[in-house]
Amino acid sequence: MTTTMTTPATFMVENCAMPFCKGCGHSHVLRKLNDALTKLQIPPSKVNLVTDIGCIGLADAMFETPHTVHTTHGRSTAFATGIELADSVLSDSKLKTIVLIGDGGAMIGLLHLVNAALLNADVTVLLCNNFLFGMTGGQHSAFSPLEFITPTTPDGNIIPPIDMCRVMMDARAEYVARKLATDKDLGEVIAEAIQHPGFAMVEIVELCTEHATGKNELTGNEIRNVIEEQGQEFGILSSATSRAEFGVLYADKNPRDQAYASEKGDDGIIPQYQSTLKQQVGIVIAGSAGERVQSAAKKLCEAAVVSNLHCTQKNDNPVTQGSGFSLSEVIISPNEIFYTGIETPDAVIVVSEDGMNELHEKHLLDRLTKSTVLILDSSLMKPHTEANIIEYPFRKEFGGAKAAMKAIEFYVKQSEVFPVEALAPVT
Ligand code: SF4
Ligand SMILES: [Mg+2]
Repeated sequence: MTTTMTTPATFMVENCAMPFCKGCGHSHVLRKLNDALTKLQIPPSKVNLVTDIGCIGLADAMFETPHTVHTTHGRSTAFATGIELADSVLSDSKLKTIVLIGDGGAMIGLLHLVNAALLNADVTVLLCNNFLFGMTGGQHSAFSPLEFITPTTPDGNIIPPIDMCRVMMDARAEYVARKLATDKDLGEVIAEAIQHPGFAMVEIVELCTEHATGKNELTGNEIRNVIEEQGQEFGILSSATSRAEFGVLYADKNPRDQAYASEKGDDGIIPQYQSTLKQQVGIVIAGSAGERVQSAAKKLCEAAVVSNLHCTQKNDNPVTQGSGFSLSEVIISPNEIFYTGIETPDAVIVVSEDGMNELHEKHLLDRLTKSTVLILDSSLMKPHTEANIIEYPFRKEFGGAKAAMKAIEFYVKQSEVFPVEALAPVT
């Protein structure tokens, strides 16, 4: 599908206040990242920022237009690699996936970095190294220089710091750089790393003004010396292109997949119907686990795609999988969907008591308006709501396992979001 969003003058929230302590290097990094993205003119829908836990993880809120994914501590590179592999295998491989991770997270998730480098996944890692765990109180990390004083090394660090650039090059990363956050050309180096076809890492050395400066008498001017004295270099340390990125290698090995993708379009499904839908609709489908609620929602999505529409599906169920509620949130739209959440649903379909209880639990029914259609199985008690309630005995007529699918069919007929025939191959 064609991207309709134009490239903005800035990717950041306009006039946003940086949430970091005064003098923190993270502010420089984010501004330079914004410069790089703006310079490269990548459509925001093709930029995905994956952030880690730590102060740098606050970056999500600073960026308004690209996709952002906030992940668990140390795992951002693993999430980014998964996203990138899915993009290169299942889609057009045009997504630029950028990781923002601190030195603490990079050590926790070291193997994820090594693995991404070995795969040569087209991921750019911006590793913000301020020598310590800033968000949790300034504890030392594997990047702390010798004699560095922190709450966990009060007499000075006695363990030599890791040289992450060297580790990455040993893992066959081809674009590796080390820069200071205050370097004037940092934006250009970030842009180069993003453009590099394959894995790229830029270690950005910076100062945590809250924890690193007092006891260590460290200033911004001295951090270059600290790095060089421990035998580590600055600059672009590698910028080779001798290895093809994972997506290219995969395509070579799996020509049938590629032929399939080009024959069927980038979604792998040929549109056969036209919809007159003018704006996006959000549909919540709630029922019981084991009664094919999420499978029915998937079929609704497939039928929407067959009708030339965009679609997203989010599922929810208890960890027990086979008992309790089962829920799907589906968005159908004539335009690209940039946010997959549903604040106020246009339609809610409830086919069992478990589903109804969960909607009460989530207070979702309180958010319905007069324009919401609430399709209820006749066996359920009507909730107090402004929504337009329609009842039908789906369970009695079709049984529990088919109730969700039949209720969806009922909704499609009633709403005319797309021709009901689009469901025919899938019901
Ligand atoms: S604690 Fe350190 S890393 Fe965190 S915002 Fe403050 S200066 Fe920056
Ligand atoms: Mg840190």
